[in-house]
Amino acid sequence: MNITVIGTGYVGLVTGACFSEMGNKVFCVDIDNGKLEKLKKGLIPLYEPGLEDLVKRNYKKSDLKFTNKLKEGIKNSNICFIAVGTPMDEDGSADLKHVLDVATEIGQVMSHDLIVVNKSTVPVGTADKVKKTIKQELKKRGAEYKVDVVSNPEFLKEGSAVGDFMRPDRVIIGSDNPEVINTLKELYFPFTINHERFIIMDVYSAEMTKYASNAMLATRISFMNEMANICERVGADINRVREGIGSDSRIGYRFLYPGCGYGGSCFPKDVKALIKTAQDHDYDSHILKQVEKVNNEQKLYLVKKIKERFGEDLYGHSFAMWGLSFKPGTDDMREAPSVVIINKLIKLGAKIKAYDPQAMDVAKKYYFKNNPHVEFCDNKYQTVEGASAIILVTEWKEFRSPDFDDIGAVIKNKIIFDGRNQYHKEYLKSKGFEYYPIGNGST
Ligand code: NAD
Repeated sequence: MNITVIGTGYVGLVTGACFSEMGNKVFCVDIDNGKLEKLKKGLIPLYEPGLEDLVKRNYKKSDLKFTNKLKEGIKNSNICFIAVGTPMDEDGSADLKHVLDVATEIGQVMSHDLIVVNKSTVPVGTADKVKKTIKQELKKRGAEYKVDVVSNPEFLKEGSAVGDFMRPDRVIIGSDNPEVINTLKELYFPFTINHERFIIMDVYSAEMTKYASNAMLATRISFMNEMANICERVGADINRVREGIGSDSRIGYRFLYPGCGYGGSCFPKDVKALIKTAQDHDYDSHILKQVEKVNNEQKLYLVKKIKERFGEDLYGHSFAMWGLSFKPGTDDMREAPSVVIINKLIKLGAKIKAYDPQAMDVAKKYYFKNNPHVEFCDNKYQTVEGASAIILVTEWKEFRSPDFDDIGAVIKNKIIFDGRNQYHKEYLKSKGFEYYPIGNGST
């Protein structure tokens, strides 16, 4: 099929690359010319394992093309995906500016009937708004093309986005038009070849499913963080408790890891947007508000432990920050706990020596540009030289088994604050380290 994907971010670029890998002709459209120029040179503007190969291979074959001209893409496509950002607006709602800008432009340039598929995470009712906007533009120029707007929320995870897209748990199609549903099933068929994974529903339910899904996952994290904080106070070990409850098939093991809070471009904004949607419909969402509150407090939980250990005044202390991205496998730092922790420690007088396997460029460019209190190091060992303690915030694999003897030789204090429970308490004790994990007391 010939398709257009609007937006070449984490979702759009993966979507375009994966569809082209299955033999479709894909036009990727973006307004960011810098990004497009990079892509045309084979440079991927974001870190996502496996994506570079896909993009390069399909670009070379001309199955994947990049342009800033929507008209060029849409001219030959009968399906057009919207995958632009829906950031948090000032009042907590999803800002639909980019989505509606795109809808306006589609209405201005489309020259035949079109299926518009919304992949951006948007509140219930957005498909109606997109359709209305396109229709208004068509009317202005006296054009009468048929347009169907479908909701097809995306569930890929940064860090494993290509694999998630290639082997989705499910493909949700929100539409009441059987013809359109069949076309999309055909497009997605290669991804679900061994196992029927389509879930067809009405548009509103599809739009809502994405929010409910992220809200559920965020709730599990905040719930486990709360359990961890209680464990710590009563002398229980959250790691044992996690195994104990995860073995119940009604609960399951996944997404039960306590830590220093969730971040990223989705959970924080989507939980907030759902709270706002509920509010707009006269419903006060008690659970979601607490999920958010627990998370905001949890991001500062390590700082609380650091203050308890070193006092309120951290002047003269340097901390080794291990990890900056909001999770491993990505360079994305949006809403990352690392940013909150570093800013708070700096406020208390500390200096930071940071290292992350992928997110250093993003950190330097967008978060700590010319910040004299943050020094970026070439590797994890450099960060610990003369440090008062290590703070582990992102559980990258390369932090899993460092050489604690080498570290012990150069660090000022043998202390680790572990925001992701990566180490064995007893082992660290045997190496002479003080260890502060989440939900399992300290040594
Ligand atoms: P992103 O910020 O990485 O990318 C968005 C892209 O859209 C940017 O390249 C931007 O330049 C482009 N854009 C903005 N306005 C445009 C316009 N008028 N025309 C063409 N391009 C335009 O965003 P993302 O992380 O890919 O997220 C996109 C959507 O998918 C959001 O709604 C998000 O909530 C949702 N989502 C994200 C993830 C994720 O893991 N990142 C997962 C599932 C769903």
